[in-house]
Amino acid sequence: MAELKELTPRSVDYSQWYQDLVIKADMAENSAVRGCMVIKPYGYAIWEKMQAELDRMFKETGHQNAYFPLFIPKSFLSKEAAHVEGFAKECAVVTHYRLKADSEGKGVVVDPAAKLEEELIVRPTSETIIWSTYKNWIQSYRDLPLLINQWANVVRWEMRTRLFLRTAEFLWQEGHTAHATESEALAETKQMLEVYASFAENFMAMPVVKGVKSPNERFAGAVETFCIEGLMQDGKALQAGTSHFLGQNFAKAFDVTFATKEGNRDYVWATSWGVSTRLIGALIMCHSDDNGLVLPPKLAPYQVVIVPIYRSEEQLAQIDGKVAEIVRKLRALGVSVKYDNNDNKKPGWKFAEYELKGVPVRLALGARDLDNGTIEIARRDTLTKETRSIENIEAYVKALLDEIQDNIYQKAFNFRTSVTRTVDSYEEFKVEIEKGGFLLAHWDGTPETEELIKAETKATIRCIPLEGDKTPGKCMVTGKPSAQRVYFARAY
Ligand code: AMP
Repeated sequence: MAELKELTPRSVDYSQWYQDLVIKADMAENSAVRGCMVIKPYGYAIWEKMQAELDRMFKETGHQNAYFPLFIPKSFLSKEAAHVEGFAKECAVVTHYRLKADSEGKGVVVDPAAKLEEELIVRPTSETIIWSTYKNWIQSYRDLPLLINQWANVVRWEMRTRLFLRTAEFLWQEGHTAHATESEALAETKQMLEVYASFAENFMAMPVVKGVKSPNERFAGAVETFCIEGLMQDGKALQAGTSHFLGQNFAKAFDVTFATKEGNRDYVWATSWGVSTRLIGALIMCHSDDNGLVLPPKLAPYQVVIVPIYRSEEQLAQIDGKVAEIVRKLRALGVSVKYDNNDNKKPGWKFAEYELKGVPVRLALGARDLDNGTIEIARRDTLTKETRSIENIEAYVKALLDEIQDNIYQKAFNFRTSVTRTVDSYEEFKVEIEKGGFLLAHWDGTPETEELIKAETKATIRCIPLEGDKTPGKCMVTGKPSAQRVYFARAY
C-alpha cells in the first residue's frame, strides 16, 4: 500500500507528480523508442471513451470516417510552401524498404539496393495526402461539401517529449473538409471549435477559452487557426484542440477545382481540425490530486467500484449475492461498475488503488451493512464518505455521478477564474507571469512584439479570445493601438 501512495506532491514538483501519476495509475509508460509511449489498458480505456463521444459528435455534425495511408511521398509535402516549412524539422523519413544480413552475419543492415526512388514521410498530419486524393473526388459543386474524419496515429519528431502531452507518435483524429464557399468553410471551422469546446467542458469537465491563434502560433498552411485553451493546476496553459481554416491553400497546391453552380471553375475551400491523446494529459493535469487521478464520471473507465468487506467465505457469498443485485440495477441505469471481490487483496489496498485510479464512486459493503441494510459510499472528488440505506442506492449513485461531474468542472472553473488577471503594464506583466495563470493584456498585433514578450518572459499568446471584453486599448509593450485584450500564459 505504501508503494501505491508514493506520488510526489504537486506543491513539491508538479512535473514529477504528473510523471509519477501517469506511471503509478497505469496509464502509460515510456518505450524503447525515444519520445514514443506505450498506452496501457487503463489509459487506453479513457481514450476509447473520448473517441466514442467525439466520434458521435462528429457524426451528428455530418462527418464520415475514412482512412488514408501512413506514408506521404516527399514531393506531396513540398507542394504547400508554408506547410512544408512548418513540418520539415520534425519529419521521420523512410528511405529504404529492405534490410539484409551484414557482412559479418551478426545482424542486419539497410540494403543499399533497396533504396526508395522517392522517399516517404511518416505523416505528421494528412492534409497533403488527403488533398491529393480529393482532387479525384471533387469535380463539381454536387460533390461538396466533403466532410471526412480519420482516426489515426501521426509522427512529429518532437525533441522535448512528455507522456501524453507531447509525444513523437500520438493518436488523434483529423477532420478534413472541402467546401464550395469561403463562408461555408469558415462556418465549419467554427462549428468544430464548438464541438471541441463542448466536449472539453461537458465530458472532460475542463473549462476552455475559445479563440484565434496569433500568426506566430498558426498551423503551417492555415489562413486562421482557432483553438481551445485549458489551464492546468500549475497555472500553465495547454492547447487542447485546434480547428484550422485553410482557405484555398491546399486546393491550389493540389489543383483541386470544381464546377460552380454558376458554371465557373473555382478552387475548393478547406478546413482541418484535430485533437489528440494530449487530451488525456489535460484530463489528468486539470483535476487530479496528491492521492491520484480524479476522473470525470463521463470519461472514467468505470464509474463505480464495489468492494466487499468480509471475514469468511460465507459472509462473502452473502455479500456477492447482494452486490449482484446492485450491479444489475446500476447497469440498468447506464452506470458502469466493477465488483472487485478478488480474494488476494485486502480492502485497504483496494481502496488506495481505486483512489489512485480516480474511480469516481466507491461502494463498500460489509457483513454488518447486510444486517443493517446500509452501504458505505465514498466520493473520489471530495474524498468524503457516508453510510446510507441500501434501498434505492442505484438512483442515489446515478445522481451523485452527475453531481461529481458538475463539481469537478466548477472546481476547475473557479481555479481558472482565480488565476486569470487583467494587466496593463509590461512591468506588472513580468511580475504576474511568474505566478502563473492567464494574463489578459493588450498587444499591438505584431509578431515582433509577441516574440519579444516570449523571449523575455517565456509567455506566449494563447489566443485572441472570441468571447468577452472587446474594448480596444494600447499595447502594454509598445503603446501602439490594440484591438482587444489577448490571453497570455506560459504553456506546455
Ligand atoms: P495541429 O495539427 O498542430 O493543429 O495539432 C492538432 C492537435 O494535436 C493539437 O490541438 C494538439 O493538442 C495536438 N498535438 C500536437 N502536437 C502533439 C504532440 N506532439 N503530442 C500530442 N499531441 C499533439
